[in-house]
Amino acid sequence: MAAPSLRRLIPGRRLDASFNWPAEAIDNLDSSFHVQEYLQQLIRQDHTNINTLIEIPDSVDRQVWQYEHLRQVCIELNQLVVALECECTQANCPEMKADGWLYLCAAHPTTQSCPAIDYIIHTLDGATILLNNSKYFPSRQVNTFQSALWISIPEPSLKHFQAIARRLYRVFAHAYFHHRETYDLFENETCLYGRFLLLSKTFNLVPTELISIPSDANLDHDENEQADDDDLDEHSLDDTQSQVTAIED
Ligand SMILES: [Zn+2]
Ligand SMILES: [Zn+2]
Repeated sequence: MAAPSLRRLIPGRRLDASFNWPAEAIDNLDSSFHVQEYLQQLIRQDHTNINTLIEIPDSVDRQVWQYEHLRQVCIELNQLVVALECECTQANCPEMKADGWLYLCAAHPTTQSCPAIDYIIHTLDGATILLNNSKYFPSRQVNTFQSALWISIPEPSLKHFQAIARRLYRVFAHAYFHHRETYDLFENETCLYGRFLLLSKTFNLVPTELISIPSDANLDHDENEQADDDDLDEHSLDDTQSQVTAIED
């Protein structure tokens, strides 16, 4: 077997001159984080081919694949935050709204209304901290200098995937309904929502009834609608405001 190529990022090198090592099969990646590296390699190869990105590699556990995708979405959503920062201000968006819903931020001792940009940042930070918490996701933290560290994710931790995905969905929805031009530019460049939506549908992360962004004709994956009555736990409805419904989550 050929020796694996050297995969190093050189300080000071331009982005377009980086990552220029040959693609490797996942089983050839000798790294503690080989699943993440493999996913990022697929994204660099063709980020528009979302069907290929979501397809679970043979040697990877189904839950681990979801986990690495969610981590990656958090990483890439930070680019959307940067794009939104100039227009999604406390003055323009004093509350986190999307499609007639008001979302309360769960990143505080008691849930509270945060300006949209703060809600987004708090949500991304919270999701990232949770996904990196060795109490819930222990295997990834173990460094044994061997690949194939991941075996599985503890069953009780799986419920966090849906909670995280629901909150991440709102970030896309706020951008879509309140900052459409920025959303379109970001989505055209990254296809991140398309990837996230297919991930959600494939692994039942976001219930269909919470999908508020209209199906887009230029998404190249199948948009089969599926009834999914699971996971309605976050509905804490307050209809005191016309049009706007508060969700504590
Ligand atoms: Zn905004
Ligand atoms: Zn907050």
